[in-house]
Amino acid sequence: MVEKNILVWFRNDLRIEDNEILLEACEKATNIIPVYVFDPRYYETTTYNTLKTGIFRAKFILESVANLKKSLQNLGGDLLILQGKPEEIIPEIAKKYNADAVYHHREVASEETEVSTLVEDALWKLKINLKHFIGHTFYHKEDLPFPIKDIPDVFTAFRKKVERESTVRPCFKAPTQIIIPSNLEPSALPSLINLGFTACADEVTTANFNGGESEGLKRLKYYLWDTDLLKKYKLTRNGLLGMDYSSKLSPWLAAGCLSPRSIYWEIKKYERERGANDSTYWLIFELLWRDYFRFMFKKHGTKYFLETGFKNKTQDLAENQMQHFEAWKNGQTGIPFIDANMIELNTTGFMSNRGRQNVASFLIKDLKVNWVLGAAYFEEKLIDYSPSSNWGNWAYIAGVGNDPREDRYFNIIKQATDYDPKAEFVKHWLPQLKNIPHNKIQALFNLSTTELAIYGVELGKNYPNALVVLPG
Ligand SMILES: Cc1cc2nc3c(=O)[nH]c(=O)nc-3n(C[C@H](O)[C@H](O)[C@H](O)COP(=O)(O)OP(=O)(O)OC[C@H]3O[C@@H](n4cnc5c(N)ncnc54)[C@H](O)[C@@H]3O)c2cc1C
Repeated sequence: MVEKNILVWFRNDLRIEDNEILLEACEKATNIIPVYVFDPRYYETTTYNTLKTGIFRAKFILESVANLKKSLQNLGGDLLILQGKPEEIIPEIAKKYNADAVYHHREVASEETEVSTLVEDALWKLKINLKHFIGHTFYHKEDLPFPIKDIPDVFTAFRKKVERESTVRPCFKAPTQIIIPSNLEPSALPSLINLGFTACADEVTTANFNGGESEGLKRLKYYLWDTDLLKKYKLTRNGLLGMDYSSKLSPWLAAGCLSPRSIYWEIKKYERERGANDSTYWLIFELLWRDYFRFMFKKHGTKYFLETGFKNKTQDLAENQMQHFEAWKNGQTGIPFIDANMIELNTTGFMSNRGRQNVASFLIKDLKVNWVLGAAYFEEKLIDYSPSSNWGNWAYIAGVGNDPREDRYFNIIKQATDYDPKAEFVKHWLPQLKNIPHNKIQALFNLSTTELAIYGVELGKNYPNALVVLPG
């Protein structure tokens, strides 16, 4: 059958570069119908009493969809933006514009794949095929040296074999022209208020993250070509303060404004033109973790959302865990290094990788709070939230996922002194500590959590109070 009209269903692939569904639809169809659906289920309150999508990410997604619409318009097309359940909207639009097929990128987490199944079933009743593409990873699953079910549960074993035996496919070019039906209905971007928030977009500050493919490409160019920051990534990547210690590409990757593959090939080009070193390799190494967690989600499915993970292990919980959880969320534990990180998250939607590891470990191992609550909180707040990267990392730290080491423990005191020796990060986010000499703040770090409790540094206390109780 020659396909004449193809509906391109955009989800977390908000880009025109290296977007196979868009290019193939343009090549095969007379008309394409590009659609993005704001699904109300993504803006609801969860069973953990958190939002599925907080305001930082919502704003980023709105900007990304707006940018995609503009790019498609520049190529002669447009983007139909609708609100509702995709399983109702996609078939309705497919029918209205006589679509012969619907194209979309396959997801891995259960809620996303369930929506695809519902859409597929509804389309089937109309005799329309939903075609699945792969576009969120470096590697296609067919190009891995093992079937999904045999992928090792230890990253290093996966990485070594993949590095030896698999290759990353080339990128797809952006289409040069988009032809849409002449009667494609006009549509506008919803506002944050339409999505259920009370604030307007310009009241939200998200550090330096503006959504959209154009901004993502700008950041990539900045990090590689304009500044050569890539050249020292391995040395700086554990930083905490500012925009430049790591690539900060994660929000654009999560919304699919950039494809991991296009980053891979840009790094390879950089290596050819400006030289390869440990740092250029290391960014690819870190990006491989992202692939890994996605493949792990395909392997273990919904087990990543369970307290017991796929290792079927239970966690020790404090009796007053909800009180601890509240203090942690609000950056009021009394441990400056933890609180500064949480305040950064609450204020900007971002936290460094070092910060994430520490606050997660502290919540689980020191405060003895159910890790699932922490993961759900991150799901709301993170501007770069992606199901497999978030729940995979949390399960790892909770010891119920892919960490091969039993009972890994982050010593928060040591971590704070190693990574924030002058307390610059802490003072940035806790300005009330500004005038306190950093060695005095470090003195607080030098006590174990139990000792802090003995000395009366209690959860929820304000900083000046907490410091006053320091012995000596
Ligand atoms: C508890 C916890 C929760 C996390 N939740 C998320 C999440 O929801 N979304 C997310 O993108 N990352 C998550 N991460 C991974 C990591 O912290 C972020 O990807 C990173 O901090 C983003 O900053 P960057 O782009 O500057 O990273 P860089 O250091 O520049 O790394 C480049 C890219 O590699 C990938 N990457 C790096 N580290 C990891 C990792 N450990 N796991 C998976 N991918 C990685 C990311 O795509 C990142 O953008 C989480 C880590 C922890 C410990």
